Amino acid sequence: MEIIIAKNSGLCYGVKRALTIARRTRRARRGSVTTLGDLVHNPRISDDLRSQGIGSAEDAAAIDAGTVIIRSHGVAPEVERALRARKLRLVDATCPIVKRIQRQVAALARTGPEIVIVGNPGHPEIRGLVGYSRGRARIVENVAQARALPARKRRAVLAQSTQDADLFGQVVAALLERTEELRVHNTICRSTQTRQRSTSELAARVDALFIVGGRTSSNTNKLYEISRRILPSTHFIESAGEIAPAMLRRARRIGISGGASTPPEAIREAVVRIRANTPASFRRET
Ligand code: SF4
Repeated sequence: MEIIIAKNSGLCYGVKRALTIARRTRRARRGSVTTLGDLVHNPRISDDLRSQGIGSAEDAAAIDAGTVIIRSHGVAPEVERALRARKLRLVDATCPIVKRIQRQVAALARTGPEIVIVGNPGHPEIRGLVGYSRGRARIVENVAQARALPARKRRAVLAQSTQDADLFGQVVAALLERTEELRVHNTICRSTQTRQRSTSELAARVDALFIVGGRTSSNTNKLYEISRRILPSTHFIESAGEIAPAMLRRARRIGISGGASTPPEAIREAVVRIRANTPASFRRET
């Protein structure tokens, strides 16, 4: 058996940066250090941060003192203002790519066209972007929702940074049918695009593929959906312990890919677990 790790899998630039900022902040600041929501969507990383004295609170009202770290997904401006008004010390770990999308949305909100964002309305990045649109953005999750929108003269469309590139293209096509002048801002980040491409290429060449990552991670879920469209024997696992011998049966080539918030140890442990079941060589695609 051969194990192949997808090129461009695992931690992205924005997540590594947020982790560095959080750890540096913990070393530099006295008092409590709390991330507003999980810094990134991976339970292993959240446990690790907690063990280093970096807590997490979903609700800003639950933080009454110390330093608050804004996570890689960013927050709405009104959330940031409310935290500052309460004299909490803020450290911004928003990914610069998300920051750029926030600025684009704010500029579009000033200039007038209807704003459509292709994303998950419950995701923190999208909640933040809606805030930057001053409530003017419509969130569309799928093609059916795009088709249900009324005809408009002018529209602008953007994507959640971790959106599935194929889905974004389909929504853009649906919007073109009901918009005279459509401005398309492809805001899917490069890390997401390269991970999606590498995973789909690998899915076409292996007999089974494991997507390793947090179940609430948007980009990891997208990798799973993309791979599963190509390869039904795609398995979403949060940890190596979920790999069962039945998943490996009759597979000569096994692929592994990880989301942008998947730590390298989680991928290494998946390799070890597979090799404990059956002898296998392994390599990382370059
Ligand atoms: S997936 Fe892209 S936008 Fe999101 S944190 Fe990573 S680099 Fe930034």
